[in-house]
Amino acid sequence: MSGGSSIYEIEFPERKQYPPLRESVDTDIAIIGGGLTGISAALHLAENGFAVMVLEAGKLGTGGSGRNGGHVCQGWPNDFYHIQRQLSEQDAKIAWDSGMAAVDLVKDRVAKYKIDCDLTFGYVNAAYHQRQMAELDEVQREWEALGYDGFTRLDDQAALGNHVDTNAYVGGLFDSKSGHMQPLKYLHGLAVAAQRKGSAIHENTPIKKLETNASNGFKHLHTKDGQQVRAKILLLCGNAYLANIGLPRMKSCLAHVTSSVLATKPLSPNMVKQLLPTGAAVADCNAALNYYRIDANGRMIFGGRASYTNVNFVNIEHDLRRRMVDIFPLLKNIEKDAVWSGKIGITVNRIPQFGRTPNDIYFVQGFSGHGVALTGQAGVMLADAVIGDQTGFDVMSSLNHMPFPGGPLRTPALALGMAYYKLRDRLKI
Ligand SMILES: Cc1cc2nc3c(=O)[nH]c(=O)nc-3n(C[C@H](O)[C@H](O)[C@H](O)COP(=O)(O)OP(=O)(O)OC[C@H]3O[C@@H](n4cnc5c(N)ncnc54)[C@H](O)[C@@H]3O)c2cc1C
Repeated sequence: MSGGSSIYEIEFPERKQYPPLRESVDTDIAIIGGGLTGISAALHLAENGFAVMVLEAGKLGTGGSGRNGGHVCQGWPNDFYHIQRQLSEQDAKIAWDSGMAAVDLVKDRVAKYKIDCDLTFGYVNAAYHQRQMAELDEVQREWEALGYDGFTRLDDQAALGNHVDTNAYVGGLFDSKSGHMQPLKYLHGLAVAAQRKGSAIHENTPIKKLETNASNGFKHLHTKDGQQVRAKILLLCGNAYLANIGLPRMKSCLAHVTSSVLATKPLSPNMVKQLLPTGAAVADCNAALNYYRIDANGRMIFGGRASYTNVNFVNIEHDLRRRMVDIFPLLKNIEKDAVWSGKIGITVNRIPQFGRTPNDIYFVQGFSGHGVALTGQAGVMLADAVIGDQTGFDVMSSLNHMPFPGGPLRTPALALGMAYYKLRDRLKI
């Protein structure tokens, strides 16, 4: 389920529109998916002098890139150990550095292309109980051993209270190098830059079928309206929204989780100062986590309520509101501006899956709820691999990804697995 317009679409009606593809064409490089991954790859290729064509089924940001919480997080989604243990020391360093480059890339692009997207730094990982505090300590130890210097431990409720006005948590970990932004404005800023540098972008152009010509390796992409795009190189950047054309190993290694977000009406400046005095974004450590922040207009943007069964759920607003009021009772009667949902693509080990075929189809997927910054970096890594520098891409694509057990029954199986962790979180063990 991906229902409801996000607040990002509602507050940004003047965003640029791109025409659908109206005729059959040849292109060297085609990119499927006008989200942060595809547009980032297009921009990086265009910056290096390569003409590309981006084909997007809906509008830019129709997928996760225009529907997320706007949290700009450092590094890879899961503990780095899951990557490190599969790699040599040298390759692990390449993987670590690639993950750490993601937020810097956002900063650099915002500055270089003057993208007005409310980028703000400061992030709190909040612990409900001591087991979660111990998990945060472990992350701090792991990252600092690898050279990270953005963390400050928030030892108790008083230290945490400098950033978050609630009794819900026992402490946390502050990260000065993560933060938040308006993701759809950022995406459009990148798209405008990519187009100025020569990329062609087509919205409302769903690709229904992919065929490969065995003799010359050309990829034939068939649109819904009968046009054909012939491309030498193809980048699949559809993540959880990829429809019709996924490769078998992409399908077997990706599951979908639905997450939802509520945007309140703007709060008074006093209330904003009281609830989140430093303007940091916050995520808790539960398996089905809450994540929230105050946007540039003073709205609380509150996300959570992961649904592993992907069943359309009723009364999302009620549930999100209950979660929000548990943390901030002051928000009990606040009205909403928008509620929406979106699909998150997850892998078994919560590390993105990179891959390519011998006939030049490249892909990356499975950002596991941690893609706002990382997709940009992944797009650059795909683009670099196409250009000829395969170092980062090869390291990441050498990682082993297990298929989800259960085949078509995978989502109920996943839900059962997650129920265990949700129960542990409820019981605070
Ligand atoms: C509710 C929610 C909250 C989230 N919160 C955060 C957060 O706060 N921080 C964070 O880091 N991450 C978050 N994420 C994850 C993050 O948004 C994603 O990892 C990221 O946006 C993925 O970007 P993408 O470009 O790979 O894919 P998408 O943005 O999903 O883009 C894929 C695009 O491909 C298009 N497409 C698919 N198939 C075809 C086809 N056949 N033809 C043409 N086009 C096609 C789709 O229409 C879509 O626009 C959240 C995700 C959701 C859903």
